Amino acid sequence: MDISQPRIRSLVRQANKVEESGKRAAAEQLYQQILAEAPETEAAWLGLARVAADPSAQEAAYTRVLELNPENKEATIGLAEMRGEPVPAAWRMEAKPESEPKPKAEKAKATAVVAHDDHVEAYEFACYRHADRVTSLRCYTCGKPICVSCANKTSVGYLCPDCKREMEDKFFNAKAADYVIAALVSFPLSLVAGYLIWRLGGGIFFIFIMMFVGGAVGGVIGRLTKKAIGGRRGRYLPYLVVTMMTLGVIIPGLPLLVLLLVGGPAAIAGSIFTLIIVGVYLFVAGGSAFYWMK
Ligand SMILES: [Zn+2]
Ligand SMILES: [Zn+2]
Repeated sequence: MDISQPRIRSLVRQANKVEESGKRAAAEQLYQQILAEAPETEAAWLGLARVAADPSAQEAAYTRVLELNPENKEATIGLAEMRGEPVPAAWRMEAKPESEPKPKAEKAKATAVVAHDDHVEAYEFACYRHADRVTSLRCYTCGKPICVSCANKTSVGYLCPDCKREMEDKFFNAKAADYVIAALVSFPLSLVAGYLIWRLGGGIFFIFIMMFVGGAVGGVIGRLTKKAIGGRRGRYLPYLVVTMMTLGVIIPGLPLLVLLLVGGPAAIAGSIFTLIIVGVYLFVAGGSAFYWMK
């Protein structure tokens, strides 16, 4: 039997692990890759029979196991169950010791051995998105093999594109209504802040003040908005709030901005401190709100 080869044995073990972690589709792919290489591998056919999504593929896999080894009880039982045939109760008990809880110490020991083996043997599968690219990288969540260009490096391991998207979806949990609420909360606050900023008047001193005040004001707007949407995160929510804050500055400033435009360079020079203060406010407060909305 091909399973005597250490390489195939290691691949089967890796596929078993993926199967045990509940990733049936990924495990099915791995078993199929093993069988493409070593079609006589009884353990891979058995694994395929357990995880195959298609019942006819499952039945065919069980049949193949029994062709290779007519004594295989798991396959006999599996096939009988699929066909609705009776199975002797004693057989059932004997063939499924795996499902019974193992003593803790034994389990820990088994894991240690597997971990050790993985360290020693690094065998390769084809990327699940690029059949022509061989890789030893694996997604740490679903276990599927991924090539270098598909792998997203994270602090805990490589992530496949599917799992990455799934994680982002979980991370960005804001609903559509949260965007409306965020706009409704942040816009009036930004307008009030913007109105007051234009009233402040100029002077170099105020520029320094604004570096601290701006951060505090942005923090208040960001935190209140975040609270109003139940602390949820949205991919575009920070940008939305910064946009509201920008509008909150531009709208109350429109009369002066128009005057400055009409007045030309001389008028702009006359209000230069006010303009700088407003700019500093927008930069510091916007950054602070953006941070709180993330
Ligand atoms: Zn790839
Ligand atoms: Zn994955």
